[in-house]
Amino acid sequence: MELSFKAKKIEQSVTLMITAKAKELRAKGVDVVSFAAGEPDFNTPKNIIDAAKDAMDNGNTKYTQTSGIIELRKAICKKLKDDNGLLYDASQIVVSTGAKQSLANSFMAILNPGDEVIVPVPYWVSYPELIKLADGKPIFVNTGEENDYKYNVEALEKVVTSKSKAIILNNPNNPTGTVYNKEELEAISEFARKNDLIIISDEIYEKLTYDGKKHVSIASLGEDIKARTIVINGFSKTYAMTGWRVGYTASSTEIAKIMANIQSHMTSNTCSIAQYAALEALNGPQEDIYSMISEFELRRDYMYKELCSINSIKSIRPQGAFYIMVNIEDNIGKVINGETINTSLDFARLLLDIENVAVIPGEAFGLNTYIRLSYATSMEAIEKGISRIREFISKLK
Ligand code: PMP
Ligand code: GLU
Repeated sequence: MELSFKAKKIEQSVTLMITAKAKELRAKGVDVVSFAAGEPDFNTPKNIIDAAKDAMDNGNTKYTQTSGIIELRKAICKKLKDDNGLLYDASQIVVSTGAKQSLANSFMAILNPGDEVIVPVPYWVSYPELIKLADGKPIFVNTGEENDYKYNVEALEKVVTSKSKAIILNNPNNPTGTVYNKEELEAISEFARKNDLIIISDEIYEKLTYDGKKHVSIASLGEDIKARTIVINGFSKTYAMTGWRVGYTASSTEIAKIMANIQSHMTSNTCSIAQYAALEALNGPQEDIYSMISEFELRRDYMYKELCSINSIKSIRPQGAFYIMVNIEDNIGKVINGETINTSLDFARLLLDIENVAVIPGEAFGLNTYIRLSYATSMEAIEKGISRIREFISKLK
């Protein structure tokens, strides 16, 4: 029997696959260091957990409005106003099952068959697959290590066509940690305006910026840009709530309505209990997030310094999110235990087999000669893992 051609072409999420493999090995008693998951190692703050317990005790266990409870959507509007200078009405907010569903809703709401979406390389693993699922076509634009992995108008001009419908901006970026400044965002918005593009602005790492850098939402650059932007955000990273599955979009009322209609058939509302937890995340004390961010910054500094001291690999100091992209191209062609490293996938597989360190191969992000390391793990694990990577590289011949 012939199954769906479209679905059969969808690759599994490498980030989730390797993270699961590391967890599986650990459960078997293997001393694995995992730099794989983009997932804070901190537990969800207690006030948020308590709010979820209260929600259950108070009977908030039923279907809610598809777009989310009104209190949460209003709290999101307040957050967008206070943090990003963006004025939205609750009718423009759709709360979904993680930012992943927010992205899926966005692509389904805006794309017609064959429409192109400009995707920067390296990209977060799910963008191309979600675009394809929505019958769109990902068109890749190179950024380049030398440009701090940021695309510029010159690179964008080379890939834009009459079929271009939207452009992805992931700021701060997964996997590179790049943060765009206001001038760069202004140039991108001008490009979007000129080419009549929708901007999918994935701001899920917004709070995770370092060196005093502040995230700017591209939607805040003017009413016309806001009107053509779908802001994607969520609770997974900022509030250490990956498992709760709460993300949201802020968009024009027209797009929000289409997305809510789609979601009303796909999943309905995201978990009611998680929504009350997210409400507390926004309304409750924020101290826990700030201590988490300071800890991430310390870990970034340490991991980056250690990586720089290892021969034959190069990294760029990230300014946001919690990942470091490491260029391993000088190790391609080298041999370990009789096996040749031809790709970053080989590098990641052998590193896991031989030294029990899990990393994500660059293939997941469209860059074959890189690996991604997440520093959303304890300092102790970082020390151990980096020393194993050093050992691994010293054994390559
Ligand atoms: N966007 C980016 C760039 C991400 O790294 C992630 C990782 N989970 C997501 C969106 C989706 O987040 P979630 O579905 O957990 O809210
Ligand atoms: N976004 C995280 C990552 O890139 C979590 C895994 C996923 O959702 O793909 O590792």
